[in-house]
Amino acid sequence: MRKKFICGNWKMNKTTQEACQFASEIRGMEKKFEGVEVGICPPYTALQAVHGVLDGGSILLGAQDVAWAQDGAYTGEVSPLMLKEVGCTFALVGHSERRTLLDESDELINRKLLSALQFNMTPLLCVGESLDERERGMTERVVETQLRGCLAGTDAKALSRMVIAYEPVWAIGTGRNATPHEAQEVHAFVRRFLAGRFEAEASQDAQILYGGSVTPKNAAALLAQPDIDGALVGGASLDVRSFTDIIQAAREIAQAV
Ligand code: PEP
Repeated sequence: MRKKFICGNWKMNKTTQEACQFASEIRGMEKKFEGVEVGICPPYTALQAVHGVLDGGSILLGAQDVAWAQDGAYTGEVSPLMLKEVGCTFALVGHSERRTLLDESDELINRKLLSALQFNMTPLLCVGESLDERERGMTERVVETQLRGCLAGTDAKALSRMVIAYEPVWAIGTGRNATPHEAQEVHAFVRRFLAGRFEAEASQDAQILYGGSVTPKNAAALLAQPDIDGALVGGASLDVRSFTDIIQAAREIAQAV
């Protein structure tokens, strides 16, 4: 049985003080999250302090990216070892903003994913098509190419140590979410791809999150889809109320099963 995972991606938002305030508020509500995995990805500068607030509890701390190397002359990069040191257990890789704004390739994302795995961090791999690609009927081809490239050199065991997020680029930060049906179609496709690339059992166990304008209003319908195992939430994760309402929607679905 796959657990639902609700993960907040704060992007370049919140000072350390604001991040700690948020973390201590949700830490106080942990009991209400039972049955759902919850994680947040603050900016690098707030990670250590937020870890101090979350330490000993069940809310997971993640980074928004991770370097492909352990140490060395990589100005501006932060290694998996350094992220683990400040309490991160997982890291996003391949977020569409990094793919588009910083030109990150599947090959680079693959190196980041392997580097996270090497240091026992869970990579949360993001894939998804642009609006133009969807309109040209290329969604599955694009997602498959991204998955093939980003998952190079991994096996079924590695798959069990990562999370995948389907995030259509046209839905991120736009207020236009994929419909539950549109999202489910791609999630089912991703799971079929994983079954072929790895093993049927590993693909059944893989957590596949949906991301793109998830809000308390649309969360329940999206999370009720059979292949949607949680949500990667940007804008709506910045506010305690809307983030916890999404967690609550996930919890109600988990309890109904
Ligand atoms: C994201 O940044 O991964 C995201 C899904 O953002 P938003 O929820 O704001 O669309």
